[in-house]
Amino acid sequence: AVDKERSNNVAKIKVVVRKRPLNKKEIAKKEEDIITIDSSALMVHEKKLKVDLTEYVEKHEFLFDAVLNEDVSNEEVYSKTVEPIVPLIFNRTKATCFAYGQTGSGKTYTMQPLPLKASQDIFRLMYHTYRNQGFQLFVSYFEIYGGKVFDLLNDRKKLCMREDGKQQVCIVGLQEYKVLDVQTIKELIERGNATRSTGTTGANEESSRSHAILQLAIKRSADGSELKPARLVGKLSFIDLAGSERGADTTDNDKQTRMEGAEINKSLLALKECIRALDNDQGHIPFRGSKLTEVLRDSFMGDSRTVMISCISPSSGSCEHTLNTLRYADRVK
Ligand code: ADP
Ligand code: MG
Repeated sequence: AVDKERSNNVAKIKVVVRKRPLNKKEIAKKEEDIITIDSSALMVHEKKLKVDLTEYVEKHEFLFDAVLNEDVSNEEVYSKTVEPIVPLIFNRTKATCFAYGQTGSGKTYTMQPLPLKASQDIFRLMYHTYRNQGFQLFVSYFEIYGGKVFDLLNDRKKLCMREDGKQQVCIVGLQEYKVLDVQTIKELIERGNATRSTGTTGANEESSRSHAILQLAIKRSADGSELKPARLVGKLSFIDLAGSERGADTTDNDKQTRMEGAEINKSLLALKECIRALDNDQGHIPFRGSKLTEVLRDSFMGDSRTVMISCISPSSGSCEHTLNTLRYADRVK
């Protein structure tokens, strides 16, 4: 993917893996770190048993655009992923950054700081480089749960989607807030997060079954005047995907869980297919495969950028999920 299409020296699709540190629970269970990293190569050391029960290690090697070790800070994650893309959204680019991985692998930890850092850079560009040119920044935050869209900045109101004649998909009635500073964005995100976790079960349980989508949209009126209606210029979407292991909940005893699992599985597969189609410059991109990809349709059209951050646990106990995550990322790159 790296060499395929470059403009402004920013790859069209970038796949990054982030390994988190072992946590206390894993250490208490005497689980081991089975991931080694050597620049952009990552090795999984899978412990297996022979028929005579002697242990052996099977190694799996993967290569990505970047592999981030457990000591890499959120600042560095930002500079390796989203930072190079930010200036492009003032010039009609639509960019999407995904966090993929099993529940507990660090998706939310990785994703939460990114829109704030990006908006810092956006405001710097708006107030200095593009001063007095009438650019405006808007924020929206919604989630997709069980194939339905809910507005996280409007009491989790259920929303519908509509397609206009120009192949644009819009979410009808989605709240968009015009923002003038980073602090306001921070407050909106906190409000959305609180709305997200008011489900019937625990916060992590709920959030692991939904995709959370935060969008920063740059708009401008035809002549740059603030009095005329502003039209979309570029967009940056941050997507904290549902826990990838949830897609396997298709044999659960509970019918609701099974249906949600099937929906998550469908959306993650559709997402992979869409990114692959983008990379191959295929004319046809299979958006209709899921609600998630339908919502992202306009972000995949025109001059688009996609960053996939695959989050993994280092622990031997998560080996199977980690291999699944890395294989998914490998198919996307
Ligand atoms: P997910 O959103 O994938 O379910 P979280 O982001 O909630 O996972 O992370 C699970 C736990 O691990 C959290 O307590 C989080 O603070 C911690 N964590 C995740 N990634 C890192 C990291 N790179 N460094 C330190 N702690 C981390
Ligand atoms: Mg999370």
